[in-house]
Amino acid sequence: MFKKDRISEIRPELEAIVGPDGVRTGEAEILMYSYDAGMARARPEVVITFSAADQVAPVVKLLAKSGIPFLPRLAGTNLSGGTIPLHGGAVLNMSRLKKIRQIDTGARLALVEPGVVNLELQNALAPFGFFYAPDPGSQKVSTIGGNIGENAGGPLCLKYGVTVDNVEKLEFVSPDGETHTVSYRDAGPDVMSLLVGSEGTLGIVTAAWLKILPLPAHIKTATAAFKSMDEAMNAVTRIIGCGILPRALEAMDKVSLDTVMAGRENPFPPSVEAVLLLELDGDDPVRITKDLDTCHKICAAEGCQNFRMSGDPAEREMLWQARRGVNPAMARLAPDLLVEDGVVPRPLLTAALRETREIAAKYKLTSAMIFHAGDGNMHMHIIFDRRDLQEVRRVKKAGYEMMKAYIKLGGTISGEHGIGVEKRVAMSWLYGPEELEFFRAIKRAFDPAELCNPDKILPIGGDDACGEGRTLPASGLSARASQSPAARGIIDELRVRSGRNIATAVTGLGTRLKRADLGGAQPLDLRALNAAAVIDARNLTARVEAGVRMTDFRRQLAAEGLRLDLPELEGSVGGLIASKAWPDLRDLLLGLEIVTAEGTLVELGGKTVKNVAGYDAVRLMCGSQGAYGVIIAATFALAAGQGQAAAYAKAEPGDFTPGPLQRNLKEQLDPRNLLNPWIYAGTAAAAPGQEAVK
Ligand SMILES: Cc1cc2nc3c(=O)[nH]c(=O)nc-3n(C[C@H](O)[C@H](O)[C@H](O)COP(=O)(O)OP(=O)(O)OC[C@H]3O[C@@H](n4cnc5c(N)ncnc54)[C@H](O)[C@@H]3O)c2cc1C
Repeated sequence: MFKKDRISEIRPELEAIVGPDGVRTGEAEILMYSYDAGMARARPEVVITFSAADQVAPVVKLLAKSGIPFLPRLAGTNLSGGTIPLHGGAVLNMSRLKKIRQIDTGARLALVEPGVVNLELQNALAPFGFFYAPDPGSQKVSTIGGNIGENAGGPLCLKYGVTVDNVEKLEFVSPDGETHTVSYRDAGPDVMSLLVGSEGTLGIVTAAWLKILPLPAHIKTATAAFKSMDEAMNAVTRIIGCGILPRALEAMDKVSLDTVMAGRENPFPPSVEAVLLLELDGDDPVRITKDLDTCHKICAAEGCQNFRMSGDPAEREMLWQARRGVNPAMARLAPDLLVEDGVVPRPLLTAALRETREIAAKYKLTSAMIFHAGDGNMHMHIIFDRRDLQEVRRVKKAGYEMMKAYIKLGGTISGEHGIGVEKRVAMSWLYGPEELEFFRAIKRAFDPAELCNPDKILPIGGDDACGEGRTLPASGLSARASQSPAARGIIDELRVRSGRNIATAVTGLGTRLKRADLGGAQPLDLRALNAAAVIDARNLTARVEAGVRMTDFRRQLAAEGLRLDLPELEGSVGGLIASKAWPDLRDLLLGLEIVTAEGTLVELGGKTVKNVAGYDAVRLMCGSQGAYGVIIAATFALAAGQGQAAAYAKAEPGDFTPGPLQRNLKEQLDPRNLLNPWIYAGTAAAAPGQEAVK
């Protein structure tokens, strides 16, 4: 039960900030904001609606001072219960903050408020000949703030990246009511990328500078119809593997095709079980035609029955409407819809889809597959009726089994829909206690009082009632299983030093850090971490140890016809990440293995190209300068073929002076300031036996 009068007590102050109309406690509002597009339900005590962005900080400060929980909410289309106020308190309705403040085509940036609807931004950009790449299926209603909250994706993200890749800078209010502006290009750890996908648990975005792109001069669309989903998935792996990067590569199974085509002329033969929707774009029409021709040949070789180019814009629009229309079409069949969102390494899609279908059949569920095949991101759509409790139980069980299957294949539980409350339990199947504690430390750094969207993302006591524990990948993808002797040596050494309170200076090749800078800390030389990279050419990923020279790594890749789309950079892999020598390197980083000051191995990310399960600690480590943990290995997304190295426009950030956010993170991640302690001099009290390092 909530204490009813805790809102009455602060009501006059709230009304002084947002006006009487902005503070609603009536039954209609409370009910309206007690649900979202997920299945969870809980009532807020108050709904606070803002009419100006500068009202957010004072309201948050007041709520924090009063110990009242709060969460930001926009269109409420998230599919994981992210906007359900589990502890009552205040729902912060940001939807009236919907100004597009500036479109700067010269700088290729749009400055927008969080309530701007995704499609409205696209419509505003089109007359300038520009677009914003993230295009979730919900783009007619979902907003930029919600897209940032969930790190939303969409069909175009295969080529242009998900939301985080398309954000330049954010203004946000932290849970203590302070306003911050952060860019991923800032010197120091990448706090901006950490905010993206944090589901409103680390702060509230009040403005976003988004990257915008010129509309491509040419777009060509094709469909490829197959007798089996396996054939279609083999074609997907081969298309991406031969160096073609479509702007979209989507797949539909027969059920979704039949559902969406109901009442229209179905252009595909009845024997078709799977259809790929392929789209290529660019400024060179000859190249597009050549690439599409290659796609055609690959599809034919994999058994494609019918490959159709669609030159006509009306037909193209019809195909996309069909793709986007699946959710509403499915929703017509039953009152409720659950969309699973697992991701697996692309070559394992066939196995993952087979398991998914078997699980749906085992629980006698009506389901359809329509998904981002190019990203390995599956969306099993399951229809049901929540009034049928037996059916709800079967749906939940099936969802859990599907997530476990993806984890076993080395995949993850969510590519774009988030964890919220609904997948919280599965976090402890995906991660070990070490990773969960790392995430909890991040949450504590931002929100020590647990007021900002509490009890989301991270499992809480009793979540895993069946006590099933971590579901380790069967295929040996776990880094724990694959540490080299040198890596194990680093882990052991850090444990010993932690036990003795010895400060460590993490050193790579010494390209950036000079020995004179170490301030008395004992060097930890990472050059022994130099095992040859493990390359998965079919998945286009490679895991490489941190001490390997980037030039040697690239030479190894080139020998296999693969590349990293980066400028030529000098230094070790770990050093380049930790120093943020090239801020856009974050876009190619899929996973990191790091060792904490206590000598605990933490595995973050992996071999999937999308992953929104937990905080984006991989990107946070970019620019962390060895002070949050020792990077011992990294997994990168590769490109196939020769391609041109990006020009190196000297983007290296300048000197770093930690601010309060970075200091809070340091206090949580390395409370005794043992790693590269001079960077955060004065942050923590010197531990017994350790000289305070100035
Ligand atoms: C039919 C349908 C299709 C969909 N298709 C896709 C798809 O293709 N791709 C995809 O990624 N998702 C998809 N989704 C899921 C959903 O639309 C996205 O997650 C979307 O980004 C949510 O936006 P919203 O405005 O509804 O945000 P909300 O649901 O209101 O909020 C989402 C999260 O962001 C947080 N948040 C809200 N505002 C802020 C803020 N200002 N600062 C910080 N955090 C904030 C919230 O607390 C919450 O945790 C689909 C959903 C539906 C119903």
